[in-house]
Amino acid sequence: MHTHTKALVLRCVDYKESDKILTLLTPQDGKVTASARGSRRRGSPIAAGTQLLVYADLVLYEYRGRWSVKEAAVEREFRGVIQDVERLSLGCYFAEVAEALSLEEEPAPELLSLVLNSLHVLDRQPEKPLELVKAAFELRAMCLAGYAPALDGCAACSAPEPEEPHFHLREGAVHCAACRGEMGDGVSMPLSAAALAAMRRVAEGDPKRLFSFQLDPASLERFSGACEAYLMTQLERGFATLDFYKQLRLPGT
Ligand SMILES: [Zn+2]
Repeated sequence: MHTHTKALVLRCVDYKESDKILTLLTPQDGKVTASARGSRRRGSPIAAGTQLLVYADLVLYEYRGRWSVKEAAVEREFRGVIQDVERLSLGCYFAEVAEALSLEEEPAPELLSLVLNSLHVLDRQPEKPLELVKAAFELRAMCLAGYAPALDGCAACSAPEPEEPHFHLREGAVHCAACRGEMGDGVSMPLSAAALAAMRRVAEGDPKRLFSFQLDPASLERFSGACEAYLMTQLERGFATLDFYKQLRLPGT
């Protein structure tokens, strides 16, 4: 059986002498594992379209329940991401999160489009703070995966604009500092009015304008801290690519 699909290469692992095993994110079939036979051989016609973080137009064929790449044409490369180690590590983190949040045979057009948009911003908008792009990606990805937080008002007293807003990670809900006692066990992180507004915008706003906002440094730190911690708390796992990205961001490295 043959199938024709667009796909983003989320991960590739070398296999045998010249093959690769790819993890792909496709709009219609979600996550797909496919082998790319001979793709590491010099002059292979599928080499360019089966590289990490390349968005490609693929022809796949199935034999005994396994998919292989027959043809691969590059639709979009993110050169500005690939050529900068910090951006590359963040792009790989986006891919690892997308892999964790997607399923086989479950259409994922919105998640795919989120990863592509995020890579596009890393590639073409060097002025955007990486922490902003990362946090907006994390929160939106969580919303798409069914973990949309409750940001409308204080979860305890229903105040539409919580006083000294905090974000309870396990509950996934915002609350006033004074209402902390009603929120149960677990960690609450301090936000600011601007950080909360940014979370609302990212969670509910137009996907095309996901990154079109600015924050002062203090609010950006709170926004990005809350988004990352929310993802880690809800998914109950870490990400090797995130650890690597953070090592690169340490001062003096
Ligand atoms: Zn309250």
